[in-house]
Amino acid sequence: MCTHQPPCPGALSEDRALAQVRAAHPEQGWSLLCNGVIRFEDEGLLLPSGAAIDPPARSVPAHPHRRSAGRRPATRGLFAA
Ligand SMILES: [Zn+2]
Repeated sequence: MCTHQPPCPGALSEDRALAQVRAAHPEQGWSLLCNGVIRFEDEGLLLPSGAAIDPPARSVPAHPHRRSAGRRPATRGLFAA
């Protein structure tokens, strides 16, 4: 149970992602929140019920470095001449 003051928002609350972190695993990219919700580094959430919530659309792009890895069409012509 939550013993924080003020109490953390519940897992069914819209503010669920604002609960205190109970166990952080930054090397794995996720944190367990006080209300039982697992928050991933891209802001996606996994509820105690097993339901997943996608990251908010406003956080674009989530991983630009990962997305562009191996594909660099913009630089192809720069050194051709
Ligand atoms: Zn709490």
